Amino acid sequence: MKLTIIYDNEAWAPGLQADWGFACLLDLKDGSRLLFDTGANGTILLENMEKIGIDPRTISSVFISHPHWDHIGGLPALLERHREVVLYLPASFPKPPEARQVLTIQAPCQLTPQLWSTGELNGGEQSLVVDTGQGLAVISGCAHPGVGAILQAAAQFGRVTALVGGLHGFRDFDLLGDLSLVCPCHCTQYINEIKQRYPKTYVPGGAGRVMEV
Ligand SMILES: [Zn+2]
Ligand SMILES: [Zn+2]
Repeated sequence: MKLTIIYDNEAWAPGLQADWGFACLLDLKDGSRLLFDTGANGTILLENMEKIGIDPRTISSVFISHPHWDHIGGLPALLERHREVVLYLPASFPKPPEARQVLTIQAPCQLTPQLWSTGELNGGEQSLVVDTGQGLAVISGCAHPGVGAILQAAAQFGRVTALVGGLHGFRDFDLLGDLSLVCPCHCTQYINEIKQRYPKTYVPGGAGRVMEV
């Protein structure tokens, strides 16, 4: 699948705005498009999308990791533009907005033939698990529950080969040894350490970054 970072603390592509928060778009094997989180600000989200060439109306589902402002801030603006989406919300989400379909998730579960949620882990954050055809990719918002707990929860669905997203203060770097791709971005505090430790599998993040996962 193709993964495009739309919103990140750093900008990768010229012309895109960097801002504290995270959002990325997944072009899935079945041809559908899923938006993972929405960044902090709707204007920046929609402007970055436009500059990358993503029409919000082509998005069929939105997955929210956890209800922190830097992940849900862009949601109202996106829904205002395009409400015909399936919304996957963690049960910790305070006041679910209207959409074509709203699913509230608490326990680990399968969402589609190639998508799973880890369910809410300690603190109410869920991570997305995607079957890439060559193993599972885990997409993480901030990883508040801990990368170890997230990878362990994802492993119930198969072999995890990729990890993308915010990893917060994670520093148990041995856990990344079996992965073939790791893209630590957003709030990850030890990006340089991960890069030095895993130079072959490390992929830099940043808004506008496109990667085949
Ligand atoms: Zn965050
Ligand atoms: Zn957070």
